[in-house]
Amino acid sequence: MARRSFVAGNWKMNKTPSESRTLALDLRARLEKYTKCDIAIFPTYLSVAVVSEVLKGSNIDVGTQNMHWEKFGAYTGAVSPQMLVDAGVRDVIVGHSERRQYFGDNDEKVNKRIFAALAHNIKPIVCVGETKDQRLANVTEDIIRTQVLGALIGITAEQMAGITIAYEPVWAIGTGLTATPAQAQDVHAFIRGLVRSLYTNEVAEALRIQYGGSVKADNAASLLSQPDIDGALVGGASLVAADFEAIVKAAK
Ligand code: PEP
Repeated sequence: MARRSFVAGNWKMNKTPSESRTLALDLRARLEKYTKCDIAIFPTYLSVAVVSEVLKGSNIDVGTQNMHWEKFGAYTGAVSPQMLVDAGVRDVIVGHSERRQYFGDNDEKVNKRIFAALAHNIKPIVCVGETKDQRLANVTEDIIRTQVLGALIGITAEQMAGITIAYEPVWAIGTGLTATPAQAQDVHAFIRGLVRSLYTNEVAEALRIQYGGSVKADNAASLLSQPDIDGALVGGASLVAADFEAIVKAAK
């Protein structure tokens, strides 16, 4: 089955609202011709409104880097799904390794966030990936299996249509180290196989699996040409419009 590529830009804790506006305007102008690929960018919560305004009616979706699963209430510092929908958000990154490492995210919370997102028609990108020590200890597949199974507890085959999985080896995020296309392809095929065993061949074949971890203009094409790599989740390179454009261009 031909899957549409999906390239996402995670801005992390970068760009003030006015800088975000400038970057979003630049991206809108550059990316409007890339209609064969889905594109989403993920500014900080504070910049979501201004970026949504700039991108209204464009081919670029706006998402956030996290989201609480409750609708409202006494959760200081948190933002709920319905607030995000009202602000124009259509996508959310869930379980990014930096959330897991610095903010106590785990598979149970990831699972709650996925349910809440889907209930509000927000499409989650679910991040999984092993650390360097885990790869060296040869437990990559065990880690990925635990994270994927934990994230998808209770998710139905129909709900899987709204989900993207991002394989992001932790050792490759923001380090300049990239998994080789073959290393990434192996894990992507493993994830697709897991999803096949949990659901059906149809669900597995329809699932988009992004690669993330130091994707740049010069390595995007070789990664994205792998059969089970359906797009990229891009951090650092998404902050430079020309670099992000080059990655989108490399996506089929
Ligand atoms: C990310 O933030 O998800 C990421 C992959 O970052 P980078 O591209 O900078 O490694």
